[in-house]
Amino acid sequence: MDDDLQPIAPFTFELTAPVEPPPRKRRTALIVSLAVGVPLLAAAGVFAFLLLSGAFADREPPQLTATQAGRIQDEVAEREDLLAQLDDKRSEFRTAMLQWDQSVSWAEDAHGPADQPTVAVANPGGDALPGDDPTGRAFLDSIGATDVSVVFDAGPDNCGYYGNGGQSDFVYAGGCFRGDYANTLYMAWDSGAEDLVWSIFVHEAMHWFQAEKYAQATYLADFAGIDEAAYDDKWEADASCRAVYVYGISIDEYVDSSSPCTIDGWYEGWISDYLTSLGADLAEPDPTAYELAETSRP
Ligand SMILES: [Zn+2]
Repeated sequence: MDDDLQPIAPFTFELTAPVEPPPRKRRTALIVSLAVGVPLLAAAGVFAFLLLSGAFADREPPQLTATQAGRIQDEVAEREDLLAQLDDKRSEFRTAMLQWDQSVSWAEDAHGPADQPTVAVANPGGDALPGDDPTGRAFLDSIGATDVSVVFDAGPDNCGYYGNGGQSDFVYAGGCFRGDYANTLYMAWDSGAEDLVWSIFVHEAMHWFQAEKYAQATYLADFAGIDEAAYDDKWEADASCRAVYVYGISIDEYVDSSSPCTIDGWYEGWISDYLTSLGADLAEPDPTAYELAETSRP
């Protein structure tokens, strides 16, 4: 039978139901609305809250309790006190620096005039020191006092010689170092007092040394309100002790003098330490010492 011989239908693909597009657009719309809408809603909410809470209204002055007001007043007072303390410290530092500069300048000027004073009264002992250094030149040069010279004067400018007003049955020897003639050593002695002359001369030369090295310390002591009378005997002892400890003069030479060496264990700088012990501040002012509180430095 030919009935079985049916033409084969052309092969076709089966058409299936159309695939639903993925709900991407809708989801995107939802995400966009969430991404934009929620923040907008949130912002609107915040705005509404701020509006309701009066954030945009004119501010009322804060109502403080008495305790709060008191604390603010205390704080203001404390700050004012701090400013006053800062002013005081600043002024103290400026004063200290001015005094320091002044003391440096005065010490530089303390060398005295180069010219020699005229002799008022001739020295009874003559115009030459006993020994082999008749003008003291070799000794003065050896200690650096090259501009200093001896004047043989028994007049009133020689503050250490009492021969003109003393008792006639004594012989005197005396010398003087004066700030107004810092390049001059005054010397005078009576005949018969020659043995005392050299130790007195060295003592006076030590005063020149003190003036060279410690004049600034005395000015700073003066600024600290320390009267010269408070350390005059130590100043004298310091000169004699330098002669003893550094230049080998026998300590016995000064025992009966007006300036005995009474500083046991004398050392260079002893006199400035003594002035410090009296309250003088001999160091250049350090600004950090005038700080109210330690600063924090990186
Ligand atoms: Zn003296």
